[in-house]
Amino acid sequence: MSVNITIDGLAVRADAGDTLVDVAADNGVYIPTLCYQRGRPCLGTCRVCSVRVNGNVMAACTVPVADGMEVEVNDPADMRKALVELLFAEGNHNCPSCEKSGRCELQVVGYEVGMMVSRFPYRFPLRDRETRPKKIWLENDRCIFCQRCVEFVRDRETGRRIFSIDHRGSRSRIVMDVALADRMSDQQVREAAELCPVGCILQKGLGYNDPIGRRRFEVRRLRQRVLEGEGQ
Ligand code: SF4
Ligand code: SF4
Repeated sequence: MSVNITIDGLAVRADAGDTLVDVAADNGVYIPTLCYQRGRPCLGTCRVCSVRVNGNVMAACTVPVADGMEVEVNDPADMRKALVELLFAEGNHNCPSCEKSGRCELQVVGYEVGMMVSRFPYRFPLRDRETRPKKIWLENDRCIFCQRCVEFVRDRETGRRIFSIDHRGSRSRIVMDVALADRMSDQQVREAAELCPVGCILQKGLGYNDPIGRRRFEVRRLRQRVLEGEGQ
């Protein structure tokens, strides 16, 4: 069944139940996301896609479209910017020295919201790196706890999770099952590193293999990729 909604005043026709963030992208409206990826189940962890729906703030990745819905994408713009600033303040993000710079979704969303510096106090967390696996390692203090790795990276034989969250609150950190990590194929390692929206999951032996000037978001920005239907 088709429904009619408006997004920032633009009249849009969509299939009932489709996810708002996808409907917006299909109609040329970019809503930033860091945990959501088209075609995968919604995680709803980062809240960066928050928009106003009929006056209420909601994460666009969690909202099925319904007839008569009125969506304002940038009404909570400062709130989105604050969410992104909090993500930067909660980790250690020194972009010029980061292997993921130019390929990092958090960095590009920071540009998108016009963030120059976080207005929140930086916490400078001390989270030990995990370097034991043969092909993959974790730079834990860059993790934004989107949980993509937890939900979508599995051991191919047993289906068991390779990544999980250990501890709670400010002591939370992503941990890897080292035995399962050592069973990952090269392709699976590459996919896990690409799945991570920041420079936390890294493939050993690659580092700065893409020269500056030829990295993913230096060539074409995230907004264009999403609108062109390539996903993230
Ligand atoms: S993970 Fe992204 S935001 Fe953090 S330091 Fe690396 S490039 Fe910058
Ligand atoms: S390691 Fe990367 S993919 Fe996993 S929760 Fe942290 S930011 Fe997300």
